[in-house]
Amino acid sequence: MKKYVLAIDQGTTSTRAIVFDRDQKVIKVAQKEIQNFFPHPGWVEQDANEIWLSTLAVMAQIFDGGQIKPEEIISIGITNQRETTVVWDKNTGIPVYHAIVWQSRQTADIVNDLKQKGLEPFFKEKTGLVLDPYFSASKIRWILDHVEGAQENENLLFGTIDTFLLWKFTCGEVHATDVTNASRTLLFNIHTLNWDEELLKVFNIPRRMLPEIKDTSGIFGNIDPRHFFNQTCPIAALVGDQQAALFGESCFKKGDVKNTYGTGGFILVNTGEEEIISRFGLLSTVAWKIKDEVKYALEGSIFVSGSLIQWLRDEMKFFTSAADSEELAASVEDSHGVVVVPAFTGLGAPYWNDSCKGAIFGLTRGTSREHIIRACIEAMAYQSKDLIRIMEEELGEKIDSIKVDGGASVNKLLVQFQSDILEIPVIKPELAETTALGAARLAGMAVDFYHYEDFADEEMTVYEPKMAHEEVEEKYARWLKAIDATILF
Ligand code: ADP
Repeated sequence: MKKYVLAIDQGTTSTRAIVFDRDQKVIKVAQKEIQNFFPHPGWVEQDANEIWLSTLAVMAQIFDGGQIKPEEIISIGITNQRETTVVWDKNTGIPVYHAIVWQSRQTADIVNDLKQKGLEPFFKEKTGLVLDPYFSASKIRWILDHVEGAQENENLLFGTIDTFLLWKFTCGEVHATDVTNASRTLLFNIHTLNWDEELLKVFNIPRRMLPEIKDTSGIFGNIDPRHFFNQTCPIAALVGDQQAALFGESCFKKGDVKNTYGTGGFILVNTGEEEIISRFGLLSTVAWKIKDEVKYALEGSIFVSGSLIQWLRDEMKFFTSAADSEELAASVEDSHGVVVVPAFTGLGAPYWNDSCKGAIFGLTRGTSREHIIRACIEAMAYQSKDLIRIMEEELGEKIDSIKVDGGASVNKLLVQFQSDILEIPVIKPELAETTALGAARLAGMAVDFYHYEDFADEEMTVYEPKMAHEEVEEKYARWLKAIDATILF
């Protein structure tokens, strides 16, 4: 009997397989780390074949022991690190170069050239994105420039990781992606929901390399029995990781927000049927497409979030485990006037300053380690408030609550302070695997295993705001003053 959905979560540091039952409970998790290569400063690459093999390995772990059988899986959903680019030969299945990872800056020259030609507004209007090496198009261009004969080679295919895995799983039968992944390439027109010939021309990328674009939830193809223990099963969702988390957090309505506190921070707000082209440097992206339903989102990222806690642990040596940060911060009443601006790599939206450096303000003889830790946790929340304020402006309406996930969202002091400083409830779902859950839900919906009604009552903890309004105003004003001073320094 079919009773489970299998989600594959192919992330930047590891590949995971997670099995969910009819009640969306996690039944089994398997994980395998993958390697990153740094061939030059600022370059980040991975071996696409290793990613593929890690995917097979985690699936084998899932079925190992026989508790879960392949024939019990009704559908498979794939969620993935976005933008990471693979180009491979369709005759051999062999990638012609490493996968160029989203973080990699090796295509900065290609992008700067386009910026100098004044093409930024053109791209923004069509794609909802900013011209940046982050997105896939310049990575494809780079591979075509650096691999001999690649531009003319009619056998080469491009894919983000979702597409590459789907192609492998179907033994080369299906070359497709979904709208959420396509919307991160700088080649996808967010209004027509298709590849844009003009954008392809600017990058001189042959149309034949690109995958077909499909709905986020729907049948993409069937896994080849050779990869599924002689069974088959539909692959029924492909979805970028941040959009999967938005879906997994049940942010289905316009104005619904999810805030992920990972190494960096990712905030997405559902903007409903409307694609909003941001005035403040937020990215417009497709949230999902399910048959006739298309939802868009605005996305803002925070460069330094949980990594601030890692910095306290590894460089400042303030504690040995990230979890200790909470107890230490809670041992003092407040940050004693200390404000930390974690501009380690400049400041992103809405400040967009890539040359400023981090700063600590308000030190006195009485400042302790605990005050600084507390100020760091508070900085994580202030940065989210900065983004949520501009999201409200773009949306033209107030955001009335947010949902949180990611490794640092277990920090209760952080989540409470986030609620205090935003003056709205902050909701923490009990299930940690929201990204995988999003993919599983979308894959389950495609085969009638799950329906929207099933997503109504998730378990969650609600943090209500407790701070007096005057105190919030005073604290946030100090944060903004610290930002100004950081930029001036
Ligand atoms: P990613 O998916 O980006 O690798 P995770 O979602 O796993 O990240 O979150 C890891 C981050 O969370 C790390 O930067 C770590 O410092 C931070 N973190 C983990 N536990 C805590 C905690 N209790 N308090 C604050 N930050 C934490």
